[in-house]
Amino acid sequence: MPKGHAKAFTAGAKALCRTTYLTGAGDKPTAMPRLEGQARPRTGATMPSDTGPATSTATPARAALTIDVEEWFHSYNVKGVISRKDWDACASRVEHTTMQMLKILANSNVRATFFVLGWVAEKHPSLVKKIASAGHEIASHGYNHEPVYSLSPQEFRSDILRSKHYLEDLIGSTVQGYRAPCFSITDWALPILEKAGFAYDSSAVPTVRHDRYGSLTNMDAAQPITYVCDELVEVCISCLRFGKRGLPWGGGGYFRLLPYWLWMRGVHSILDQGLPYVFYTHPWEIDADQPHVPGMTAANRFRQRVNLGSCHDKFRLLVGAFDWKLLGDLCKAWKEQLASETMGARVIQ
Ligand SMILES: [Zn+2]
Repeated sequence: MPKGHAKAFTAGAKALCRTTYLTGAGDKPTAMPRLEGQARPRTGATMPSDTGPATSTATPARAALTIDVEEWFHSYNVKGVISRKDWDACASRVEHTTMQMLKILANSNVRATFFVLGWVAEKHPSLVKKIASAGHEIASHGYNHEPVYSLSPQEFRSDILRSKHYLEDLIGSTVQGYRAPCFSITDWALPILEKAGFAYDSSAVPTVRHDRYGSLTNMDAAQPITYVCDELVEVCISCLRFGKRGLPWGGGGYFRLLPYWLWMRGVHSILDQGLPYVFYTHPWEIDADQPHVPGMTAANRFRQRVNLGSCHDKFRLLVGAFDWKLLGDLCKAWKEQLASETMGARVIQ
């Protein structure tokens, strides 16, 4: 096992789960092993001719593409203008935009992980079935899209169980992954996720303080996959590392804002460090025709609408750039390699 990766959970792994997260202390090693057989960038991927020099595609990569399935009016940017009680009156666009994404994925023969909001699943059960039947992973984005830190632990438990159970009944298989709305994960939520039967959470962004994101104790951008409870693994959204923290480089508005060539340089920099790359987006981010919402602040309007018109093509290029893995498979491979490294270290001792 690499030096520094052999830190183990102590007997207090469960206590750890209550108090300390994303650390290396405990009887399970928590740091990220460097995996063999990583997904490889597709050499045939093309770069937009007008956006700058192409980056190398020769680096072995391990990357997961994730999509948070929600409506345009679920975005936190419009929350102050469109409230929960207004949702039913808003025009639904999620089916159309998600189908566009499914088409892009199918054209490149890529599978992705879809974190589906429970509210959307109940309105569009056939869409969820279509996603699952195309071979993609169905994961949970909770039910009501309320930030975790705004809920009580009981409210959070009820929100995640309602979504998880509904999705599982719909697709007939277990939902392994969870992503908090607005990456609003907090320490106290982790044991609740574990007890609810989730195998992994993908909600932490190991960046500096953010006005919307949550935060876990001891987040470390150098260890983006790690055990945070006995059985629960955290898979962080990718960042460009500066020590333990980093600049968010996982998608969303950052992806829409920056030129594609620059974005890809960052992605390759992350992969070249032997770290996995986890990308996220939303169906509404390729929807330039989504309604304009009066009353939004200039900052929120910018966050919601910047470069919506070019995101479809950028997304298509990114999809074709790598042999993406499902996030659940990335976790599983990490666990297996960690277990084999642990066993090897014991044999050597
Ligand atoms: Zn969301």
